Amino acid sequence: MGKPTGFMEYVRTENPYRDVQTRLKDYVDLHTAQPSDIRRCQAARCMDCGVPFCQSDFGCPLHNLIPEWNDLLYQGQDRAALDRLLMTAPFPEFTGRVCPALCEKACNLADDGVTNRDNELYLIETGFSNGWIQPRIPAARTGKRVAVAGSGPAGLAAADLLNQLGHDVTVIERADRPGGLLMYGIPNMKLPKEIVERRIHLMEAEGVSFLLNTSAAPDVTEKYDAVLLCCGSRKPRTLNVESIDAEGVHFAVDYLTAATRGVLTGEEPDITAGGKHVVVVGGGDTGNDCVGTALRQGALSVTQLEMMPKAPERRTAGNPWPEWPRVLRTDYGQMEAVAVQGADPRVYETTVKSIRVDASDRITALETVRLQKGIDGKLIFVPGSEKTLPCDLLLIAAGFIGCEEQTVRAFGLTADSRGRLLPEDGSHHLGGNLFSAGDMRNGQSLVVRALADGRAAARETDAFLQKNMK
Ligand SMILES: Cc1cc2nc3c(=O)[nH]c(=O)nc-3n(C[C@H](O)[C@H](O)[C@H](O)COP(=O)(O)OP(=O)(O)OC[C@H]3O[C@@H](n4cnc5c(N)ncnc54)[C@H](O)[C@@H]3O)c2cc1C
Repeated sequence: MGKPTGFMEYVRTENPYRDVQTRLKDYVDLHTAQPSDIRRCQAARCMDCGVPFCQSDFGCPLHNLIPEWNDLLYQGQDRAALDRLLMTAPFPEFTGRVCPALCEKACNLADDGVTNRDNELYLIETGFSNGWIQPRIPAARTGKRVAVAGSGPAGLAAADLLNQLGHDVTVIERADRPGGLLMYGIPNMKLPKEIVERRIHLMEAEGVSFLLNTSAAPDVTEKYDAVLLCCGSRKPRTLNVESIDAEGVHFAVDYLTAATRGVLTGEEPDITAGGKHVVVVGGGDTGNDCVGTALRQGALSVTQLEMMPKAPERRTAGNPWPEWPRVLRTDYGQMEAVAVQGADPRVYETTVKSIRVDASDRITALETVRLQKGIDGKLIFVPGSEKTLPCDLLLIAAGFIGCEEQTVRAFGLTADSRGRLLPEDGSHHLGGNLFSAGDMRNGQSLVVRALADGRAAARETDAFLQKNMK
């Protein structure tokens, strides 16, 4: 185990955020790394406690061997620690940056948990900078061809494992760059795009092919022995108000995609918050990413509307450890808004009642209204609580309602009532040579869950191919 008294000697120390005013001027990584001696002290806090909920379903969908690699990290055996991490984690450079770290909240140190995410990031970046991460070329090829549709974390994780198992893998991606929401969704300051590209280049060197600007459909995939659909849960939830199609109203992912494209090309994005009053509908992580991006683009003001009440500061009795704590979280974008605007941008229990437009059908303002629970538990408008907010850019970050129908239909499939391709037997096999994984199978979730599900689907696809090889 780490140091027996480590958790008493060392306080939890996370990779610090860069200064708010400095980071608001760029799209560079939000955090700075800490030196190896700090990481060793942090790893020393892990007690190999005997009840490692950090590795359980609550803590880590990938079931990372967290106490084992923390111990090796504490002992200065970075390479062995990295090898142990890579046994279960395909892309620690992604999860080490964007994972909400369920494992840290499931840690026996409870709300003062071990900094597993920063430790993981230290290990993988040390591996890259020391040249320990090299292409792993499979010893033999099976001659079986697999198409993976969609290059988000689920598709990449599946492609990686299937390739390592010796199959010839082609990832078919509709967008112009691979990565799914890792590329076009999660902003550059949270996950720099050169980190995504570094992994793609490594996978190419290992033998995975990427076919970009191509929509997966049966005529494209017919020559493959198995097809794994990882096309995400990309259908956004909209608002049921008039003038929702007005100019200046956009879904969050379209806005964030344009912003990242602008960062990558140096060109002005098609949609920008510069010089505008911005309202973001949705108080979750996607909404927070919109807030941080809008502030960087020079928004005049940013307001974030949240339907639900403000979460409690501490866990309630119905939300015990080791469950994820449903408590108030103030993320980077909201912190930045406090620094720029002097107040938290979130307005709780409030939604949009109507959209005002000018003569050219351009949004100019919103009428907001407070919400409360009605007798049947459904949210209803509070009469007389209407307010007017100036708004030149309305960003809808209200979640996703399932996978896109055109892809599902193209393969002759039917999604369930929640828009998922989730086989009734709980497997990943849709019938014939078709499989599904990630958000397309489970609904919008987390990168770490998409990775774990992509690997699980790859194992089932491999078993199917093995059976057909005999
Ligand atoms: C703005 C935003 C921020 C997020 N931030 C975080 C975070 O910080 N941490 C976290 O853990 N999770 C985060 N999430 C959730 C996380 O990104 C997703 O759960 C995860 O990316 C799902 O992975 P996936 O591979 O299933 O799908 P996706 O990442 O959605 O990838 C699906 C891919 O399929 C492609 N595609 C779709 N249809 C076709 C087709 N017919 N043919 C070919 N390609 C197709 C799409 O272009 C896309 O590239 C965030 C989500 C959003 C929207």
